[in-house]
Amino acid sequence: MESNGKVVHRGLLQTGDLYQYLLNTSVHPREPDSLKKLRTITSTLPRAIMGTSPDVGLLMALLLKLVNPKKTIEIGVFTGYSLLVTALNIPEDGKIIAIDLDRSTYEMGLPVIQKAGVEHKINYVESEALPVLDKLLQDPVNHEAFEFAFVDADKDNYANYHEKLLKLLKPGAIVMYDNTLWGGSVAMDEDSVTENRIGMRKYAIEFNEILAADARVQISHVPAGDGVTICRRL
Ligand code: SAH
Ligand code: CA
Repeated sequence: MESNGKVVHRGLLQTGDLYQYLLNTSVHPREPDSLKKLRTITSTLPRAIMGTSPDVGLLMALLLKLVNPKKTIEIGVFTGYSLLVTALNIPEDGKIIAIDLDRSTYEMGLPVIQKAGVEHKINYVESEALPVLDKLLQDPVNHEAFEFAFVDADKDNYANYHEKLLKLLKPGAIVMYDNTLWGGSVAMDEDSVTENRIGMRKYAIEFNEILAADARVQISHVPAGDGVTICRRL
């Protein structure tokens, strides 16, 4: 049995105790050992906080099982927590195009992904994400071909990713955008926002307004983790 590891963030909940309750009651008993192991490896990194939290992982897993996608896209892999969630929950012949500009963190998680027996589902591309999406769009075969996407990279490009993804996603497809409440800073006065949040905060605010007004998607803005917006392509 893998240990449940240390909690790196309490998300947006009222108290750490409430988050711990959620983890103890509904999350840790359901988190596969491979994902626990990946969190343990990730927790040694200074940027551990970037890893997807296990409660959001279970939400992703549930949506993936509902959609059962054969073709998915992930933007922002880091050590691979959300990627492994995806690989574990899509069908055996499902494929993930996983994009990140830095392969070194993926390599830290890769042995766990291999041991879980799901590496064959992953097509890892080390690159800035936008040119990869543009390249996919050049081939009409990729238009409306994907059924699921998870976006968790550079927040200032979310609006650009969204436009391109809408062309790549089938009607009925799900796209999840992570960190859309940006530590709660989206609702704070600029003066009370911490230095590390200030830069990307305005992009999160802008993007939330874009999605709210976008008639091409159904949305649900969920205060899990650091805020996740789930969109269904109409
Ligand atoms: N989903 C991951 C966390 C991603 S953290 C998990 O579950 O652990 C954000 C990642 O986005 C980092 O690994 C970073 O290298 C990557 N990234 C940042 N800007 C990018 C860009 N322009 N294109 C592709 N990847 C990018
Ligand atoms: Ca994230």
